[in-house]
Amino acid sequence: LQQSQDLARLNEQLRAQLQALAVSQEQAVRASAAKTRFLAAASHDLRQPMHSVSLLMSVLRERLQQPEHLSLADKVSRSIGAMEHLFSGLLDISRLDAGAVHAQPGPQPLDDMLARVLCSYEPQAAAKGLRLQLRAPRGVLVRTDAAMLERVLGNLVANAVRYTASGGVLMAARLRGAEVLVQVIDTGPGIPAAHLDDVFEEFFRLDGGSGHPGGLGLGLSIVKRSLAMLGHPLQVRSRLGHGTSFGFLLPRVAGWPLMTDTTGVQP
Ligand code: ADP
Repeated sequence: LQQSQDLARLNEQLRAQLQALAVSQEQAVRASAAKTRFLAAASHDLRQPMHSVSLLMSVLRERLQQPEHLSLADKVSRSIGAMEHLFSGLLDISRLDAGAVHAQPGPQPLDDMLARVLCSYEPQAAAKGLRLQLRAPRGVLVRTDAAMLERVLGNLVANAVRYTASGGVLMAARLRGAEVLVQVIDTGPGIPAAHLDDVFEEFFRLDGGSGHPGGLGLGLSIVKRSLAMLGHPLQVRSRLGHGTSFGFLLPRVAGWPLMTDTTGVQP
């Protein structure tokens, strides 16, 4: 009798502990959802005025004449660009966390997509004397979500331009049977082999980002999660002192005529 009473008491204690655990788990889930909602709302609301400031700044720049004023305006524009990049990263990661991103794949012209992304980084590259190059077969259709893929490529090119001091960035697409291998290759400092996995973790930055302030360490985590959602496997190769290449495979739209004509366009 004593034994069965002990057992019942133990059972009761266990049930109470499990209940407490469930309550604290529920609280943690609710706190995390609140954090995600706050991040999404804050980054979304901050992005809009920042975009207006950016537009006003370019209007103002048109009216400036003196070189020192122009150079100041360029510095302000660069800072605004960095802030827009931060807010976009926060918004993207919070939308991914909230499960609010849904891939909508469809047929997309590959060369147009790549050129659009590369062109938007031309000013930053030119300011550092870096050469941007696009090498892609013309007229190839791939199946992907264009908006998501452009954000992925944007993050990769932004990093390549940010971390490369000299040389340039090549965006290359090569046909691989029923797929296309897309790569963003830079001549930057490279990533140590020991950190090739870490750089995809949220908020991880090499050396804490000491050499390059301004980033949050979210870009590559957004890249990895977005590509996983799209089902495009990611590959990364890096050699210290030589550069880094990020690549992934895109499925070609079946039946689309094979054209091997390659663009060597500089955007
Ligand atoms: P952020 O660039 O905001 O720091 P990311 O998640 O995009 O965040 O990158 C994480 C870290 O990986 C960067 O801080 C940088 O140290 C390193 N990294 C990313 N891309 C490159 C690159 N192309 N070349 C060298 N290092 C890179």
